Amino acid sequence: MAAEDAFTYALSSNQAWAGYKGHQNPDFFPKLASGQSPAILWLGCSDSRCPETTILGLQPGDVFVHRNIANIISPTDINTAAVIEYAVVHLKVKHVVLCGHSSCGGAAAALGDNRVGGVLDIWLMPLKAVRNAHKEELESITDDKKRAVRIAELNVEAGINVLMANASIQDAIAERGLQVHGTFFDIGTGRIRDLGIGTGKGKGGHHGLSGVNGDSDIVRGKHAMLVFRTDGESSMQAL
Ligand SMILES: [Zn+2]
Repeated sequence: MAAEDAFTYALSSNQAWAGYKGHQNPDFFPKLASGQSPAILWLGCSDSRCPETTILGLQPGDVFVHRNIANIISPTDINTAAVIEYAVVHLKVKHVVLCGHSSCGGAAAALGDNRVGGVLDIWLMPLKAVRNAHKEELESITDDKKRAVRIAELNVEAGINVLMANASIQDAIAERGLQVHGTFFDIGTGRIRDLGIGTGKGKGGHHGLSGVNGDSDIVRGKHAMLVFRTDGESSMQAL
């Protein structure tokens, strides 16, 4: 498909979507326009296969977002830091979710020794540092896909360490119980896995976000409610 065709299609698709949404719920857009109070800050990869609101089954207004190549959380990146500060201090989100994913091009590039070129090699330096810190473990994995999954998981761990050292996040954890979650999206199954790191540390194997009531966690957006359960069967209800 030529680029202009994709753009024309996207615009007509938007018209159809807006018409459907407005017809389904006449209050939807006026409500959205009145302001936002998202419960979730999502930090993820720019990869076109990881659109957070879509894969969470949520709606516009539910998720505040920052995405960059390979979901790298660097303490000196003012872009990421500004998004985190606005979401945590001003919007007072309840959950910060950092999500890595399978088949990540950034992870694959960091595993290799070839230069990508331009600014990309500089951007990927923190991921290269993760590779170097876990060289032995990564080299012991013979399957290329599994090695890429592992470095992406280790990258989430490194990012969670940066998030947990962030002053705004530390204050919000202490003052109002902000939760920080390290997660992993498997593109091949569409499922998000909780890595059990962050404020939910030690809950490894728990599927979904760390529970407020043990068995499930309800993430209530403005327009939908996503219920995460330990058996991996999540459900969504429109509000
Ligand atoms: Zn990626």
